[in-house]
This record gives sequence, structure tokens and C-alpha cells, in this order.
Amino acid sequence: MSHEKLLPPHRTVRSGFNRWLDPESDNHGSCGYCSNRIQGGSNVTMYVSDVDLSNGDTSPSEKWWAHQIYCEDCKRVQLLCPREGVTEALYGAIAPVSEPIVEYGICDHSLAPDGVGWDPDAVLEATTGVSLHDYINDFVEDGAPVGHIEIVDLLRSSEIDIRKLIDEDGTVQLSTEERNALQDHVHRANFRDQHQPEPTPESQN
Ligand SMILES: [Zn+2]
Repeated sequence: MSHEKLLPPHRTVRSGFNRWLDPESDNHGSCGYCSNRIQGGSNVTMYVSDVDLSNGDTSPSEKWWAHQIYCEDCKRVQLLCPREGVTEALYGAIAPVSEPIVEYGICDHSLAPDGVGWDPDAVLEATTGVSLHDYINDFVEDGAPVGHIEIVDLLRSSEIDIRKLIDEDGTVQLSTEERNALQDHVHRANFRDQHQPEPTPESQN
């Protein structure tokens, strides 16, 4: 059954948009990537998948989650590293000004047989030193769903392309030194507000 599953029904996509955005005004919340407020009338993209990593279950279910919304500046037109076994899709629409969203377009999608079998736990652990379980406990609001794109975005915000960390089977290919360097970099990037600016390097490398 799950292998025959196609994309989410229209009502799921529409209600996803209208849950993320105020359907009757331009008073929207913030972008899931840059945290800037989403402007009414601007282009937005939404990521939907059939897996919620926050419940510890990585297998697809019959449910759909509208995991993330992006503002015009951060809009996603392509899935960077779709996960094999997961149905994922990116939809684009115009953020409401006064009327609910009824029309939208699909930007990209990946059905269960497609994609790469990367393990979100292994990728997180390798790049941050934090397991998926601890990440969800410590950094995710209680009850908030977590999609695969959140791991991709976490790395992207540190200017790391997940595709460069894994081989064609999805296995993380990093030496211990590379892991340590990445973990330093990701922690600095994600916690930079708590750090003093970096001093100018004293020596060339
Ligand atoms: Zn944004």
C-alpha cells in the first residue's frame, strides 16, 4: 500500500497552507528558515511529507505533515536530498492577503521508491555530535513534527550540502577529522549569537 501511495490530496495541501498562514488576512507568522515575517502577497513554499521523525518512527504513515513554510527569500524549488521510502513534496503559493489559499503549484516531489536512503540520526550525529533523539528532546518544541528537510536545512544554514556527506547508498562518508571539523563549524554557525566574533587568524593554513 505505502509503495502505491502518491502525493497528498488537494485538501491536505490547502489546509496545510491555511494552517501555516492566516487564511483571512496578511498577518502571517514567520519563515521556518530565516524567521522573518511572511508578507501577504509574497511567494511562499511549503514542505509536506508522510514521516514525522519526532515520534521516533522513521517509516511512512498514512498521515501527512505540512512540516515547514518558507518565505519568498528562502523559497525552495527543489528537494535537495529526498529520502528513499518517504513521500516528500514542495508546494508554492501566494501568501494570503484576505482570502484563503485555493490555488497552489507543485515545485518538486519525490515518491517512496526515489531518493537516497540516508539516515537522519547518522547524519545529525556525524555533523553535530547530537543524536536525533537528543535533538528532538532538546531543540524541538514538544509535539512539533520534524521532517527530513529540517536536518537538510540545519546543515544548509551552516553552508553544508548534505549530498556531499553521503555516498550513493546514503552512508555518511567522513573521517574522524572531518566529523570534528564539521561539528565545530555547525555549532559555531548555530550558536554564533552566543559567541564573540572570531579573531583574525594568526597564521595561514
Ligand atoms: Zn525565510
